[in-house]
Amino acid sequence: MRRPVIAGNWKMYKTQAETREFFQVFNPLVSATKHCEIVVGPPFTALAAAVESARGTAIAIAAQNAFWEPEGAFTGEVSMQMIADVGCRAVILGHSERRRYFGETDASVNRKLKAALAANLQPIVCVGETLEEREAGRAERVLNTQFLGATAALTTAEFSRILFAYEPVWAIGTGRTATPETASASHACLRCLAKEHFGEENASSLRILYGGSVRPDNIRSLMAQEEIDGALVGGASLDPQSFSSIVNF
Ligand code: PEP
Repeated sequence: MRRPVIAGNWKMYKTQAETREFFQVFNPLVSATKHCEIVVGPPFTALAAAVESARGTAIAIAAQNAFWEPEGAFTGEVSMQMIADVGCRAVILGHSERRRYFGETDASVNRKLKAALAANLQPIVCVGETLEEREAGRAERVLNTQFLGATAALTTAEFSRILFAYEPVWAIGTGRTATPETASASHACLRCLAKEHFGEENASSLRILYGGSVRPDNIRSLMAQEEIDGALVGGASLDPQSFSSIVNF
């Protein structure tokens, strides 16, 4: 039985004060939630406020990115150890916005993934095809390349600690959600890759979240799919009422 995970990605939104206000409303709305794990990913500057606000709850705080080196002359970067030190339990890696605007590649995701595991963080690895790739019939090939690139040289024990998020780029922030069937087929493709490269046991326990315009009104039909083990939510995670409705689907 795979325990669902509902994770929020706040992107570049919310100050420290707005973060505290969010948790003041959100915490009581999810205090009785037992059926899933809850993760919230604020920007770096609000991580400490989020960790403090979520203390004593079951909510885990995630960073949206971090660098692979533990420390050094890397101006503007923050390491996995640093986000763990501030109290993060997870880190989102390879989000399509990082791939698109900041030159993130499968190779850099792989280095970050190994560093995250070494720092005892739960990595959430994002993969997904663009509209152009889907329309050209290349969606599965893209998932294959991203999966193999991200997980290169990982042991089966390391692989067992990863979460994947399937986020078709054409569904992120567009209001256009993949149908539960389309998402399901992509999840099945990822699980098949997991089986081929990391064994049956790892494949059946791998949790794959869906991301792309998840909202309170579509979460149930997505979660009804056997292959979908949770959601990575952008826009709808910024509002405590709407994110709690998704968590309590
Ligand atoms: C995301 O940022 O990972 C995402 C899925 O965004 P949205 O829910 O806004 O489409």
